[in-house]
This record gives sequence, structure tokens and C-alpha cells, in this order.
Amino acid sequence: MATIIDGRLVSKQILEAAAAHAAELSERGIRPALAVVIVGDDPASRVYVDNKKKDCAKTGIASYEYTLPADTQQGELLAIIRGLNSRKDIHGILVQLPLPAHLDEKEVLCAISPLKDVDAFHPVNVGHIMIGDFTLLPCTPAGVMELLSAYGVSPAGKHCVIIGRSNIVGKPMAMLMLKADATVTVCHSKTRGLADITRQADILVAAVGKAGFVTADMVKPGAVVIDVGMNRNSEGKLCGDVDFEAVEKIAGMITPVPGGVGVMTRAMLMRNTLTAAENLEDNR
Ligand code: NAP
Repeated sequence: MATIIDGRLVSKQILEAAAAHAAELSERGIRPALAVVIVGDDPASRVYVDNKKKDCAKTGIASYEYTLPADTQQGELLAIIRGLNSRKDIHGILVQLPLPAHLDEKEVLCAISPLKDVDAFHPVNVGHIMIGDFTLLPCTPAGVMELLSAYGVSPAGKHCVIIGRSNIVGKPMAMLMLKADATVTVCHSKTRGLADITRQADILVAAVGKAGFVTADMVKPGAVVIDVGMNRNSEGKLCGDVDFEAVEKIAGMITPVPGGVGVMTRAMLMRNTLTAAENLEDNR
């Protein structure tokens, strides 16, 4: 049976370290602050935003929420972001995704100052990640790297197969794995012979968005399986992309859902906010 990678435990340690960092900044007269902008009333987004506020409260980071009606226009949203960019007391800005369909997500993300871009979605920060300069890290892939490190898994020389090539998970995950000296294969919906490729993985990262997508026959015995997926099964229960029950019998290590990558994403957001606060204040 696989070792279960306990994201709750590792994220708790990261949040404790973040709280100590926030206290240190506070002694220097810096009160780290995160602004979260939410447009509309998507229930899942509401839960995510509430969790972020709770994490901020636990860590000692001030949080400001800007809840805007679903029919907010692009210009109004951009004006709010510009206002937050210029405020000295705000260090991190996060726009909760997805945005209502009439809004241009790309333009919105590009409007956030790269120095306050705690999701690391701005093209400037994406570029930094491409060249291996990691100041603000994309939270989910960074959380995966922390989990591996906490469990003594070094990606160096290993074959890491990532299923999914999104801008927020798959692509930055590949960059972080390359930086850690893994040999990386990125798969997607047009990949041929997917199972033949995934069976070669020492580290398999699933970021597909389909419940039970990774089955036991796709996994090499002893592989480390990281499940990024967050889906609802037919009973409405939260589950990942991996058929956990079957794959845990074969894998060497595996992350559960919930209690794996999701909680790490939250913890890494707190770390990024503190990094942004320190960098902004040091450069004033
Ligand atoms: P996304 O933008 O929808 O990307 C999904 C990727 O999966 C795409 O690259 C797609 O390929 C690929 N794919 C779809 N069907 C496939 C197939 N049959 N074979 C191989 N590849 C296939 O999703 P995302 O934003 O990356 O998120 C992925 C999952 O992670 C979702 O469940 C999401 O909720 C979850 N998530 C979790 C966290 C967390 O904190 N745990 C954070 C972010 C996302 P194409 O590019 O060819 O379409």
C-alpha cells in the first residue's frame, strides 16, 4: 500500500512558518495585506474566498474583500485593480477565477501589478518562472514541490509525467519540475498512447479535471502519484483525478483528495503574500 502524503500536516507547518514570518514583518512595522476581488456569486468561488480570509486571519495577514456584482463591467474592475496597485498598504492582489463570461480574464490578470501578483499568473511572473527565477511562485505547483520535499522525494533525474497543460497548473508544474532537474513529459487531450507514457512516470501529476481519470493500469508500481484534480463525483463528494482506492495499492506514495494538494495551494498563497510584502517594503 502506498504512503499517503498528508497535505494537511505539511500545510499546517507552512502556515505556522508563515505566521512566524508575518510576526517578524509586523515587528518591523510591516502589516502584510491581501486584497481579494470576487465578481458575482459563484458558490465555489465564495468558499475559496472565505477560506483565503480564514488563512489570512490565522497567519496574521490583513485581508480585504471586494465583492462586485456579476454584471460589473471590465472598466470598473480594471479601475479597482489599478486602485489596489497604487495602495501602499496592500501587498497582494488576487482576482478570484473564473470571472463571468463577459469579462476579459487575460486583460484583468495583466492589470495586476506583477509585484502584487500573488497567484503568479501575470505574464511577467510567468516569464520569471520560465527562466528559473522564482520570486512569486504559482501556488498549486509550488505546493506540489513542497509536498515532495516534505516526503523526501527528490525529482532530480526522475521522469515526471504531468497530465494537463493549463496555464495555472500543468505548464508551471513542468517548469518547477525542470528546475528541480526532473525529466519532464507533459500530456494533454491530444496525446497518443497516454497510458504507455504515464506508466513510465516515477512521479505522475494528474491535473485533468476528470474524476477517476487515472486508473491503476496507468501507474508504474512504486510511483509517486500527485492528484491535483478537484472534482465532484456522482454523489456530489469532492474527489480527485485519480482512482484513489485502486491506485493506492500500486503507487509508492499518493496524495488524497481532499487533504492533499488543495490545502497546500492555500498555504502557498499565504507565503507568496508575505514574500510580496517583504519585497515591496524593502524596495520602498
Ligand atoms: P484545465 O484548464 O481544464 O486543464 C485540463 C487539462 O487536462 C488540459 O490541458 C487538457 O488537455 C487535459 N485533458 C483533458 N482531457 C484529457 C484527456 N482525456 N487526456 C489527457 N489530457 C486531458 O484544468 P486546470 O485548471 O489545469 O485544473 C485541472 C484540475 O485541477 C481541475 O480538477 C481543477 O479543479 C484542479 N485544480 C486544483 C487545484 C488545487 O489547489 N488542488 C488548483 C487548480 C486546479 P487540452 O489542453 O488538450 O485541452
